[in-house]
Formats: sequence, C-alpha cells, structure tokens
Amino acid sequence: MTTPTSSPTSSGPQQTLSYVTPAPHSPWLTYLSQVDRVTPFLGRLARWAETLKRPKRALIVDVPIEMDDGSVRHFEGFRVQHNLSRGPGKGGVRYHPDVTLEEVMALSAWMTVKNAAVNLPYGGAKGGIRVDPRSLSNKELERMTRRYTSEIGIIIGPHQDIPAPDVGTNGQIMAWMMDTYSMNTGATASGVVTGKPLHLGGSLGRVKATGRGVFVTGREAARRINLKLDGARVAVQGFGNVGGAAAEMFAGAGALIVAAQDHTGTVVNPKGFDMADLMAHVRDTGGVGGFTGGDVVPGEDFWDTDCEIVIPAALEGQLTVPRANRLKARLLLEGANGPTLPEADDVMAERGILVVPDVICNAGGVTVSYFEWVQDFSSFFWSEDEINLRLDKIMVDALRKIWDTADRHRISLRTATFAVACERILTAREERGLYP
Ligand code: NAD
Repeated sequence: MTTPTSSPTSSGPQQTLSYVTPAPHSPWLTYLSQVDRVTPFLGRLARWAETLKRPKRALIVDVPIEMDDGSVRHFEGFRVQHNLSRGPGKGGVRYHPDVTLEEVMALSAWMTVKNAAVNLPYGGAKGGIRVDPRSLSNKELERMTRRYTSEIGIIIGPHQDIPAPDVGTNGQIMAWMMDTYSMNTGATASGVVTGKPLHLGGSLGRVKATGRGVFVTGREAARRINLKLDGARVAVQGFGNVGGAAAEMFAGAGALIVAAQDHTGTVVNPKGFDMADLMAHVRDTGGVGGFTGGDVVPGEDFWDTDCEIVIPAALEGQLTVPRANRLKARLLLEGANGPTLPEADDVMAERGILVVPDVICNAGGVTVSYFEWVQDFSSFFWSEDEINLRLDKIMVDALRKIWDTADRHRISLRTATFAVACERILTAREERGLYP
C-alpha cells in the first residue's frame, strides 16, 4: 500500500462503455465512484485502474420456456465476468424482477473486490434473470433454470466461472444448475456451482455462512468501538438467507433484534423479538409481515429505529442521504451488496457512524463457497466446526488488515477494503501482463 498521490498515474484517455447508460444512483455508478475514491491510494498500480471499470465479458441470453398453461415466455438472463486476473469467476445468480445488465455488472465487480479482500483465488462474476421467481411454478422455475444454465454453459465451469445462490435462488436451483451442466458436459461436475445441497457435494455451514460472516465482522467492529453485543439493539432489513441468519446469531450473542423489514412489511419491538417465533413466522408465511410479536410501522420508520446496529441485508441503494441522516445507530453492517450510495457514505462518516462495507462484511458466503469448491475437488469433506473456525479466522484476519490500512491512511473501511483488494487484483494484472 502506498501513500496517496494527488494525481494518480494516468492510464490514458479512455472510451466510456457504449452498452451501458447508467441511471442516477445506479449500482454501477456507485461502484465506479468507489473505484475513483481508491485510485489515489494505488500508487504505480493506478496505471491499471481502468481495468476495474470495465467488465471482462458480459453475456446476455434469451431464456424461453414453456409455461404450465402451454404458452411460451421469454426471460432476460445475464452472466458477467468482471475480472479473472486472480482466478476463475465466482459470484451468485439473482432471480429478481429488477435485474438488469448494469446491476449484474456492479454485482460482478463487487465480487472481484470481495474475493480479493479475503484473498480467495477467484476473480469476480455474477449472473441473473429478470423474473419474479415467486410468480413461477416449481416446474417452470426448473425449466427456466435449466435453459439459463445451458445458455451460459459456454462460459461457466469448475475452472472457468462458478455460480452460487443470491437473492431469489437457493440450493435447489444450484442442484438443477449442476445437473444441467453435468448432462451437457457428460460428467458429474459438482464443482461447477456452490451452495448445493449436502448430498450433491454441498458444504456444511454454507447456508448460514454469509450471515455468520456479517456477525463475525460485526462482533470485531463492535469490540473495536467498545460496543457490547450483549443487550445491543439491532435493526435488520431483509430477512432472507443473509439477514435471517445474521439476526439469529446476534440474538444468540445477547443482542435484541428490535426491528425487522422485508418486502412484506416492517415490524418493531423495542424489547426485542422472540427470535424463534419470528423465524418460524418467516418460514411459514414467507416474510415478516403479519408477525404479531411486534408493532407494524410504515417502512420509512425503519431507518430511525432506536438501536446501536443496523444491518441492511436486502437490495442495493437502500441507504440514501435522507435515510443516512435519520439513523440513530453507531454501526452499519452491510449484509447486502451495494446498500449504500456514495453520498450517504459521506453523511455517515460525518455523523460518526461506522460502516463495515459489503465487500468484507458479507464475504462469509463466498468464503465457505470456496471451502465447498475445494472439498468437491478433493472429495473430502470437513466438519461444520472446522468450517466455522476457518471462516472466523479468515474474516478476522482480513478485517484486521483492512482496519490497519484504514488507520494508516485515515480512510473509511470501504476505501481501505478496496485498497487492499485492488492492490492484489492489479498486481496480478500487472504480473500476468497484457495479452498478446
Ligand atoms: P434472499 O432472497 O434470501 O432474501 C432477500 C430478502 O430481502 C428477503 O427477506 C426479501 O423480503 C427482502 N427484500 C426484497 N426486496 C425488499 C425491499 N424492497 N425492502 C425490504 N426488503 C426487501 O436473498 P439473500 O441471499 O439473503 O441476499 C440478500 C442480500 O445479500 C443481497 O444484496 C445479496 O446480493 C447479498 N448477499 C447474499 C449472499 C448469499 O450467500 N446469499 C452473499 C453475499 C451477499
């Protein structure tokens, strides 16, 4: 890591990407602004920074399927490989009605940074289909997943690019992806996706790994700012794979979950929810809406909940400037990818709210995905305790290095995470050299 230069080494005049015209507050613009903030700290490697601002490869696919009623519907699918300098692509697949190429580009870029931040031997990738998966039957979902996998089969593979679950996808969808890829290539390829069910080479501890990573980084950050978790009040947005698991772990450490918000509603209880009841309600009904163990409040009220910790664990762009101004918490743990707009980052910095950024905070999922991939190749499976201990150590060590970098340069944890990660990515870029 070098000291900042006022005018980073130029990589020359660059063309803008003609295939993307970002809307204001688009996640891709958020990502580009994060790269601009770290570039002055990259020293001679700044010469390569432009590499971070353009995906290596973006595939758009048509996904036509026959619906149960005999009609044919077409869905838009994407797979973007942002950067492969440090290894094969790695990143989830999202099924959501708002998925766009630009969103998938941003998510793939954050994967590049995240994988390097925890020093996994991966580049960054991401995929998605523009669909509301809840509107499909199970059979339709399977047909769509299989056709999508077949279409992106030309660029994925155990050594090329390894998808995993994200919003709207789960272990069953990974099983269909693994089966489709295996059928097309003529051999069972368990290492082509992670987040699989256990019987197909999945890893113990994977389902809760992202939530566990949020907890581990939150625990470490709280310790450093002298915030006791026992009795701390926590507000959680998004009660899916990430938010639900993180909430359970904070509650297990004595914290009170005082607000929960998802696409079905917002509930609060200043005394803390009964977590077993809340989790059962979410499991049975698909969301926190209608939970009677708290009061229903308007969605915007979530942001000024009286609490010490806020965990956005839903979608991008949730922390706007007005919301950042409303926060009463001391610590924001980004379970979601890209939940904070750059201007809101500045507001939180001014207000003394510590942000543990997505690119380290939610890296637990991909870390255990890496463990799963390694276990699949060696066909030797570890115990859950072993996985959780290794995960804890990787997250704590990574956060320590990031924290030291932030202290040394007096920069935010986000810029420090980008600095640590981009140094690794661009060093690999430089050492490999430009082909041809
Ligand atoms: P999920 O589908 O399991 O859950 C998403 C949650 O967000 C649900 O509770 C849903 O109700 C809620 N939500 C959706 N729209 C909302 C809205 N407008 N307002 C409030 N809540 C809303 O997804 P997940 O896997 O838990 O992913 C959540 C976030 O974490 C995403 O940003 C994802 O990219 C990120 N992430 C996931 C993983 C992983 O391993 N699954 C890893 C790293 C990061």
